[in-house]
Amino acid sequence: MLENKVAIVTGGTRGIGYAIVKKFLENKAKVVLFGSKEESVIKAINSLKEENKDYEVSGYFPNLTNEEEVKKVFEEIKNKYGKIDILVNNAGVSSSTHLEDYTIEEYEKITNLNIKSVFVCSKEILPYLEETKGVILNTSSMVSICGQQSGVMYPASKFAVNGITLSLARELAPKGIRVNAVAPGVTETDMVKKLPKEMIEPLIKTIPLGRIGKPEDIANAFTFLASPMASYITGVVLSVDGLARN
Ligand code: NAD
Repeated sequence: MLENKVAIVTGGTRGIGYAIVKKFLENKAKVVLFGSKEESVIKAINSLKEENKDYEVSGYFPNLTNEEEVKKVFEEIKNKYGKIDILVNNAGVSSSTHLEDYTIEEYEKITNLNIKSVFVCSKEILPYLEETKGVILNTSSMVSICGQQSGVMYPASKFAVNGITLSLARELAPKGIRVNAVAPGVTETDMVKKLPKEMIEPLIKTIPLGRIGKPEDIANAFTFLASPMASYITGVVLSVDGLARN
C-alpha cells in the first residue's frame, strides 16, 4: 500500500508509533522514526531490523519543538531519500493530574509536545509535501471527543490536534496535501500502563467490542489514511476505539 513512499513517524520508538512504523515497513515504505533519545531510537531500529533485515528504516531524535532542529533533520532526510511523502505527528505525552495539583510546568510539558510539536513539524514539512502532494497524519485521542475526568490539558491538547487537522486540511487541500487524524481509544501501550486502574477499568466496561485496542489496530488505520486508497479523504478524525458511538 505504501510502495516507494518515504514516511516520518514521530514517537516511533514504542507503542502506537512503533506499530505504525512496522506496518508502514510491511507495506514497503521507507521509514524514518523519531524518538526522544538516541538509545531508544537505536533500540527500535535494531528490533525492526531483527524482524526483517531488508526494512529501510533509520532514525533521529530532534527536539520537536525547536524549528531549527526539525528543519535540519527534514533537510537531511530529503537529501538521503530524495523526497518525503508522509509525516505522522504521533509523539505525545498524557496526564491524569487533578486541577488543584496541576503545575504550569506540566501544562507546558503537555502542550509543548502534544500541540507545539505538531505545529512545528507540519510547518517545516510543508515544502517537501508540496513537491510530493503528500500526507500529514496526526494522533488524536478518544478523549478529544469526550474529555477526561482529570489531567485537563491532555484532552485539551487533543482537541487542539483535531483543530489543527481540520484547519490544515482546508488550508493545504489546494496544494494537494491531505491532512487527517486517527483518534485511538484506550490502547495497550506504556502510556496506558502508567494510568491508574480506577481510570482504565470502568472505561473498558463501556467498550462494545469488549477489549482495549492493540497498537496494530491503530496502525492499520494510519496505513489506510497514508495510502492512495484514502486519496479522497481529508479533514477526518477517524475514531479507532471499539465504541459504537454514532
Ligand atoms: P508511548 O508513551 O508508548 O510512546 C510515546 C512516544 O512518544 C515514544 O516513541 C516517545 O519516544 C515519544 N516521546 C515522548 N516524549 C517525547 C519528547 N519529549 N520528544 C519526542 N518524542 C517523545 O505512548 P503511546 O500510547 O504509543 O502514544 C502515542 C500517541 O498516541 C500519543 O500522541 C498519545 O497521546 C496517543 N494516544 C494514545 C492512547 C493510548 O491509549 N495509548 C490513546 C489515544 C491516543
